[in-house]
Amino acid sequence: MKLPSTGKSQDQVSSELRDALSGDADWRGGKIWSLVYFAGEDVAAVLKDAYATAFFTNGLGPGAFKSLKKFESEVVSMTAHLLGLPLAAGNMTSGGTESILMAVKTARDWARAEKAITEPEMLLPVSAHPAFEKSAHYLGVKVVPIPVGEDLRADAAAARKAVTPNTVLVVGSAPNYPFGTIDPIPELAALAAEIGVACHVDACLGGYLLPFVERLGYTVRPWNFRVPGVSSISADLHKYGFAARGASAVMYRDAAYRRYQYFATTDWPGGLYGSPTMTGSRPGGAIAAAWAVLNYLGEDGYTRLARVIMETTQALKDGINAIPGLRVLGEPDMSVFAFASDSVDIYAVGDALDALGWHPDRQQLPPSLHLMVTPAHKDIVGPFLADLQTAVASVQSEGPAAGGSAAMYGMLDKVPDRGIVRNVIMDYIDRMTKEEAS
Ligand SMILES: *Cc1c(COP(=O)(O)O)cnc(C)c1O
Repeated sequence: MKLPSTGKSQDQVSSELRDALSGDADWRGGKIWSLVYFAGEDVAAVLKDAYATAFFTNGLGPGAFKSLKKFESEVVSMTAHLLGLPLAAGNMTSGGTESILMAVKTARDWARAEKAITEPEMLLPVSAHPAFEKSAHYLGVKVVPIPVGEDLRADAAAARKAVTPNTVLVVGSAPNYPFGTIDPIPELAALAAEIGVACHVDACLGGYLLPFVERLGYTVRPWNFRVPGVSSISADLHKYGFAARGASAVMYRDAAYRRYQYFATTDWPGGLYGSPTMTGSRPGGAIAAAWAVLNYLGEDGYTRLARVIMETTQALKDGINAIPGLRVLGEPDMSVFAFASDSVDIYAVGDALDALGWHPDRQQLPPSLHLMVTPAHKDIVGPFLADLQTAVASVQSEGPAAGGSAAMYGMLDKVPDRGIVRNVIMDYIDRMTKEEAS
């Protein structure tokens, strides 16, 4: 498609836009289990108003936009309090991936400067988010994979055995994405402290939810700056912070350590240039919306949402465990979990659910379906569980439906040459920016 030679009317553009969006997944109705964190129409209105009002501001220039400086400082400060260290230093970023990239860069550059380590390695539980492997790929850091134990939490003893003189960073998650379990952060952080390196806790999921889960009286495993040895934490505002997308925080125990995150150049004809994080221009709308939602919800609002999320999660887990043949993996600590089956093809169950209008995410190692629970799922527990039961029964009696993705997932799971699977992924990425023949 070429740029239209004459512009269209706003009405025309708007109607084409709405048309295209109308075919998207029904996130508002709780039919998908990742990607969108919807906390209700009132929160949506607050976000849209803040985002639209600050629409033209740019976080690259806090001098021109004192408003954004205020918003970001206050978001960072509120986050520091939530993470158990009111004086923690931090920055807002565009998302969890950028927060993690910054944490890995900081650890790498700190170790290079302070310990003369030039071949850095990080100890990375296999359940940690791919953003770490991506960061390692970008930053030239070697990943040393750490297995998870029977309990689906990082094996701290294995981490200890994997330490080398080049180790610069020990990673744990609170919780991890695949299983929703919190890693043994005190053990991992103690190991990092003992060998004199950084420990990063990825609380992209838990950062803005676990503090309120704890407030509700649940026992929460130690995960934040209250644990000695934790040097940095990532927490996603645009997940359970319910902010508009494009908002996360990366936080540091020590402001001097954070300086290894920064970039500055003195010799550009365009002037002196410095930036704290990876991005240059930054959408002020995302910063303003994050500030707005924190102030709109407050402690009581987040606690109310946390209650809904935890009760909905419990109902879903209980319902799934009660369906013969299905079982929730491990003991998930929060609102994210996977379930698998020893008797039916779980990918075929996924296809049958797709056909009934639900779209659970597929996982591997082991094959499982993945649910991330938000307030949007509060009212669909009954219908979902009923359809899940139907889906399992149909796979048991009729086998996998033709034309589903089960065969492909089952096959890709078993291909020993992961290079082939990588190419399948890259082909898929290629197709994402191709126009479809209409
Ligand atoms: C979502 C997620 C990330 C990455 O965040 P993005 O905002 O998608 O870049 C990192 N870690 C965990 C545990 C996550 O769930």
